[in-house]
Parts: sequence; structure tokens; C-alpha cells
Amino acid sequence: MFCIFCEIAAKRIPAQIVYEDGEVIAFMDLMPITKGHVLVVPKVHAENLYELTPAAAAAMIPAAQKIAAALRASGLPCEGLNLQMANGKVAGQSVFHAHLHIIPRNAGDGFGLRFPPGYGREADKEELTATAERIRTALAAKPA
Ligand SMILES: [Zn+2]
Repeated sequence: MFCIFCEIAAKRIPAQIVYEDGEVIAFMDLMPITKGHVLVVPKVHAENLYELTPAAAAAMIPAAQKIAAALRASGLPCEGLNLQMANGKVAGQSVFHAHLHIIPRNAGDGFGLRFPPGYGREADKEELTATAERIRTALAAKPA
């Protein structure tokens, strides 16, 4: 099946590549949220976080660190930055090949997270404990 990020990783479709190593390739987002918006993409196809190989996952953050440092050193406006990874359509994923967004942030850039109604109150302690227990149980059932 055609995958635009696999095509870019194989260099069959051009992109503005800024970084590459054995596991990942990073290139400019064609529809940047802010100037300097870069995508870090594993070279081996994986639809999302769940499918990433440990090696690909382990390579993504160090690549993001290098690119973040380069953004800061570049002179491009980059007072801060967000790392964002959408997993699933409901989370905003639109290309179904895992990717990590590096989004430079500056005061007044208009981008940001939107919180749901009711956000800001502390969680119910019993509910928090029950939720944590469900996650711990799932982790224990499926060792890494
Ligand atoms: Zn792909």
C-alpha cells in the first residue's frame, strides 16, 4: 500500500530532509504549523506508537533532541517547542506512518492545546487509584 512517508524515507519522493540516521529520517512538514516544523519519521513502516519497533522508538527522541538544538542554534524563532505524536484518527493522525512533530513555539503564535470542559479540577483519588491499577495490571500481563 502506498505510504507517503515510506516513499520519502526511500527517497522516491523528494522532501526537505534535515536529519537522517540508521533508524529515522527527519524532514520539513509541508504544511507547517509554525516556521521550522519538522517531522521525525522511522524508516521502517509502523502505523503508530503501538507498532514501532523498540529500536525505532528509541531513535526518535535523540533525533528530536538534535533537531531541537539545531532549531535553537539556527536563528529561527524558537522560544520553545512542542513534541507531538498523534496515534489514531481520533487523536488527529492523518498520515498513518508513525511520526513525531517538532513544532517551534513563540509567544502569540496562535497554536496550543485545547482542554476539555471541566479541566483544572483535581482527579478523584479513588478513581485515580483504580485507573492506575488497570494500567499496572495490563503492564504486568504483558511484559516489555
Ligand atoms: Zn510508511
